[in-house]
Amino acid sequence: MDFSRLKSGTASVWAGETEIFPEGSHTVPIVNTVTFAYKDLEEWHEVAKGNRDGHIYSRNTNPTVSVLEEKIRVLEKAESAASFASGMAAISNTLFALLKPGSRVVSIKDSYGGTSRLFLEFLPRFNIEVTLCETGDHEQMEKEIAKGCDLVYLETPTNPTLKILDLERLSGAAKKVAAVTVVDNTFASPVNQNPLLLGADLVIHSATKYLGGHSDTLCGLVCGRRELVHQIFLFREINGASLNPETAYNVIRGMKTLEIRVERQNHNAMQIAKFLDSHSKVDKVFYPGLESHRGHEIAKKQMRGFGGILSFELKGGYDAVKTVLHNLKLVHLAASLGSVSTLAGTPRTTSHVELTEAQRKELGISESLVRYSVGIENTEDLINDLSEALDLLG
Ligand SMILES: *Cc1c(COP(=O)(O)O)cnc(C)c1O
Repeated sequence: MDFSRLKSGTASVWAGETEIFPEGSHTVPIVNTVTFAYKDLEEWHEVAKGNRDGHIYSRNTNPTVSVLEEKIRVLEKAESAASFASGMAAISNTLFALLKPGSRVVSIKDSYGGTSRLFLEFLPRFNIEVTLCETGDHEQMEKEIAKGCDLVYLETPTNPTLKILDLERLSGAAKKVAAVTVVDNTFASPVNQNPLLLGADLVIHSATKYLGGHSDTLCGLVCGRRELVHQIFLFREINGASLNPETAYNVIRGMKTLEIRVERQNHNAMQIAKFLDSHSKVDKVFYPGLESHRGHEIAKKQMRGFGGILSFELKGGYDAVKTVLHNLKLVHLAASLGSVSTLAGTPRTTSHVELTEAQRKELGISESLVRYSVGIENTEDLINDLSEALDLLG
């Protein structure tokens, strides 16, 4: 089926599933097999040589996993897609497949914690140079990219203060020096943002978050230009960070409700951001949908919705954070984001746990900051919950 004219809500239900499955199964069968049997040695040989479609061994390809890959390929308007056991597996396989000793990467200081560790600790061991720019300083990034680099690694909105990068502008700068642009699109989800349409070459998702949507499954996805995805796929076959079919099924099922979940989360987050923004106990609210947000104009240009994550600083420091978070009823205090249920945490317990208070301060991360990943609950119930907890502050 040609999905190019259809919207994401339709694609997330039907992509990869328009054919009827064996035995007339309406849902995707979980093909729980490691290996695939052939009656004919010549046919097996043809498949093994890649001259004919088919599966050989599930570390390489599996029919259930292929359906998931087709879904993200269509949703991100990509040529090709590959899946992984986690978001970090997708990120590390991408970097190690595309870079080599002497390569140079330009990225931002606010990328996901695990990605930062790769940049600061692991890639330098292989003599790969990484330059991390101030997040949101587009002039500095353009200067660093123009010096020459092989890969530009971007993330927008970022954790935890939802900074916004101009994807068209930065992928344009990367093109001038023939660098590959990779965008981690986890926070936005394909419902709100399609980096490939803005000039990126590859998009990465931690499908653990919005795509799976229920905080019950780890999964990573990469999609984009065919030859780049193929290079990454060949590395993953050997690296072995493959997705198993049962997990793929969980993500496929989650993805069917992606659009309605994300639309609700966009709405909830916007209403909650406005409520907090006008609350006397709240110092600052970080949400790209607010006109006061530094990246609002760029976000408006490149996103269809502003996402389900916001953060805010309370008056009264860490004590106020404890009072409010310990008294919220409709939230789990936990890492992760993008689930149907609301999750909240602080940088000192999640993304920036390894830093000292002074180091966090240097990054502009206050001890009174709360990250709030909005679920699909009723908007009024969430606002009432926050309102009651905030009322406890003296
Ligand atoms: C969670 C996350 C990752 C890592 O994904 P896992 O599935 O936990 O390995 C990468 N990038 C972003 C933006 C994330 O939020």
